[in-house]
Amino acid sequence: MTYFDQHVHTHYSFDSDAQMRDYLQQTKLPFVTTEHLEMSNPDDDKRDDKPDYPAYVAEQKQLAQSCGNEFLRGIEVGYYEPRLDAIRNYLAAGDYDITLLSFHHDGSYDYQDTHFRDVEVQTQVVTYYERMLVGLEKFHDADVLAHFDYGLRVLDVTPAQLAAWAGPLLKQIFARAVEYDLAFELNTKSMYRWRNLALYEYAIPLYLAAGGTLFTIGSDAHTGDAFRNHFADAQELLRQNGVDKLAVYRKHTPTLVTF
Ligand SMILES: [Zn+2]
Repeated sequence: MTYFDQHVHTHYSFDSDAQMRDYLQQTKLPFVTTEHLEMSNPDDDKRDDKPDYPAYVAEQKQLAQSCGNEFLRGIEVGYYEPRLDAIRNYLAAGDYDITLLSFHHDGSYDYQDTHFRDVEVQTQVVTYYERMLVGLEKFHDADVLAHFDYGLRVLDVTPAQLAAWAGPLLKQIFARAVEYDLAFELNTKSMYRWRNLALYEYAIPLYLAAGGTLFTIGSDAHTGDAFRNHFADAQELLRQNGVDKLAVYRKHTPTLVTF
């Protein structure tokens, strides 16, 4: 089986207008979208952004009649500690194949907000990973740790700085990820559009050293043109690390596919 993109957004996410057909016309492979569940979202006037689950399921059912693709259901959970009960309640009401876990905001600002350009960079990096480590203890009912570098997208951080400031934290984070069976996502939007490739080159060996064996690649597409972007490059990076298998999820169960 061929690996398929497992980080994709459509209009069921607050920040995308994409239609499922924008992606479906590009692939005959199994198809999954991972829509944002983002409570008290500072990027959207602190609204609770929740996919319309019944409409999502209905649209997939309808498209399945005309498209030959296998349809899978996914969600990207934005961790926010004060709203964990609401997050759990929303998830319990749906049925998913794959859950991504993301650390997108701190309650006041999305980590891509220009606000963080004014925060001292070392403090910001350390704070981000401290929150991630604590967050993983409180919530890990997910399959994939998505874009581990999200909080660094708008910062300029070198691998040496990341190692010096947050190396021990990252080791603990990846140890928890392995303990909780969370896959490591190569987020090609982070790696190539936000130019954090070098941070992934640093982090992948740390996840492997922690005993990690599960990897996914996600384009984080919000428009059709970003679907599967740079997958060959990400696969090459994995090969350089001795990894030749990727995990695909059905009913939260990984299957390893060779690429
Ligand atoms: Zn995300």
